[in-house]
Amino acid sequence: MNIKNGEELLKRCAEENLSIGEFVIRQEMEESGLGREEIYEKMVENLRVMEFSTSKGINEKVISVSGLIGGDAHRMGKYLKQGKSVTGGVMIKAMGYALSCSEVNASMGKIVACPTAGACGILPAVMMTMKEEHDLDEETLIMGLFASAGIGAIIAQNATISGAEGGCQAECGSASAMAAGAVVEMMGGTPDMCLHAGAIVFKNTLGLVCDPIAGLVEVPCAKRNAAGAVSALTAADLVLAGVKSRIPFDDTVDAMYQIGKLMPEALRETGVGGLAGTKTGRALRDEIFGELAKNEMNDDTFDSK
Ligand code: SF4
Repeated sequence: MNIKNGEELLKRCAEENLSIGEFVIRQEMEESGLGREEIYEKMVENLRVMEFSTSKGINEKVISVSGLIGGDAHRMGKYLKQGKSVTGGVMIKAMGYALSCSEVNASMGKIVACPTAGACGILPAVMMTMKEEHDLDEETLIMGLFASAGIGAIIAQNATISGAEGGCQAECGSASAMAAGAVVEMMGGTPDMCLHAGAIVFKNTLGLVCDPIAGLVEVPCAKRNAAGAVSALTAADLVLAGVKSRIPFDDTVDAMYQIGKLMPEALRETGVGGLAGTKTGRALRDEIFGELAKNEMNDDTFDSK
């Protein structure tokens, strides 16, 4: 996008009296040279994939290629039907949908990397939950996705969306901030409110490391997607109730990037530190990869580069 940061985005949206979603689709038209309809249709295709990836794991048990994860989305679907949850139907639905996407991803199914495959469950889970719980039409959902894309583009431009570079705060944190902004926009909030929601998400996910067991995007990734969806919905509700972030969105993005750069390599997708480095994490890795992993990865390594 042809803007520097969130502050500029808000300024441009105010000057042109546009929502973030509308601003982003116009930017895309300018940059790509494509017509509005074509760009819109591409987003509809993404929405269709999101519909598929959120529902597959609910309707059937989807097991990952490694066997590390699977069947949890289906469990959540059954739990939802019992109507006895602690957090209520909206949250259970969002968690189940997020788990479904992660399971579909880990079983080599089709997902939308939004912004990455590791964090592919958060935005779709929130979108589908909002669609069902608030009876949102396709136009509203699509414009929400454009708003989320704008927020993601600002993060990628000014920091990183890669777990290998900035830890899970950069992947699941960014996905959650994108989703929170989309929810606020879809519920009629202003661009300023969308960025407050994104800022609140980051404040609650800063420092989250990337420590996947055996280097596979499965454990703890799937459950972080479930938590990320919940985080997005709660941040959106805080903002829609009138709560603001004392730290502006751009500062939270800067903080996330700074923290990412300070993170040791062992906690940035190397599958060495954090949960991956625990006794259980290493045993699971050995179970999956056998002797090969033992030889290639030194258990004593906890590199603090
Ligand atoms: S732990 Fe790492 S691989 Fe897993 S979702 Fe987070 S950033 Fe991605």
